[in-house]
Amino acid sequence: MPPQQATLTAAPRTVCSIVPPFLLARIATLDDPRFERAAHAARRSLIDVAPHGLDHGRGDHSLLPRSLRDLEPAIRGHIGRAISDAQGTEVLPGTLVRTEGSPETGDVSVTEAYEGLGRTFALFWDVFDRDSIDNLSAPLEATVHYGKLYDNAFWDGRRMVFGDGDGEIFDGFTRSLSVIGHELAHGVTEFAAGLVYRDQSGALNEHISDVFGALVEQYARGHTAADASWLIGEGIFTDEVEGNALRSLKAPGTAYDDDVLGKDPQPDHFDGYVKTLDDNGGVHLNSGIPNRAFWSVADSLGGYAWERAGHIWYDTLTGGALGPRADFSRFAAATVASAVARFGQDSAEHQAVVAGWTLVGINPTR
Ligand SMILES: [Zn+2]
Repeated sequence: MPPQQATLTAAPRTVCSIVPPFLLARIATLDDPRFERAAHAARRSLIDVAPHGLDHGRGDHSLLPRSLRDLEPAIRGHIGRAISDAQGTEVLPGTLVRTEGSPETGDVSVTEAYEGLGRTFALFWDVFDRDSIDNLSAPLEATVHYGKLYDNAFWDGRRMVFGDGDGEIFDGFTRSLSVIGHELAHGVTEFAAGLVYRDQSGALNEHISDVFGALVEQYARGHTAADASWLIGEGIFTDEVEGNALRSLKAPGTAYDDDVLGKDPQPDHFDGYVKTLDDNGGVHLNSGIPNRAFWSVADSLGGYAWERAGHIWYDTLTGGALGPRADFSRFAAATVASAVARFGQDSAEHQAVVAGWTLVGINPTR
């Protein structure tokens, strides 16, 4: 076997977390009695990069058990949620506590995860005619109460996993609909485009999750582009933190500015592109650049963002023109082609997409 192929075969599973490593690293090194528990929790969350119980490789979805689908024939548009409780352990999936249609358990995290998965399914099905993450009715599975004071939520290639937070800096992660939408959108991206989670293709992977995370929340709340907060992770910080959320699509770099956490480091223009080996090549940083482009398109078109900007991005994601290593320019050009295909050469949508990318320093016509 050629060495390159061996490397590919041995590639580690992609675990996409909502809280970037640079933020956890900062909290982990805090020397402040007010945040002792948070620092300890962040150190544990950083070390725990390989949660137990994940034994499947990336991309081998054919091997995944499709528990709910085995029980009944798939009906298109039929949601099948399954929420498990890890009960403070790091063993997945944990104990199954709620399945589709069964009543509330009284556990707020279980209810929030169940409702959030439902809201995410609704956006993809109602608006984009996509039947679950794989468009083949895959069950939506999540685990809550993962680990002790676990400061993150992640998509592991099969399920969403939520920590409870440390209570000092991070509250629970199920309370944010944009976080739930973000994580499930990683699943959609994996099936639809397979964007490699590194450098520009990785930042685009993060970007797409932020776009659909924001749209899930806007759709659930009935917000227009003008009404929307455009924030990712609103409500996951405690009151101790000077910040609204983890990221802002409208104004990257402004989501938080805190004496403990520092300032949101996202660039909002290609001139500020961060070259780093950390964070898979800055995937949670450089996503700010395409995020602002999307916001600009939605803002200039007005109305509900999912109706026009969302469709252009969804067409781009699923249209087959990207390839796993697509960079910003290629993605931008593909959005232009999608806008023209759906709305026409002389459309306001076409103009808005070109203007959005130009605003952030990317030439979409190359
Ligand atoms: Zn992510």
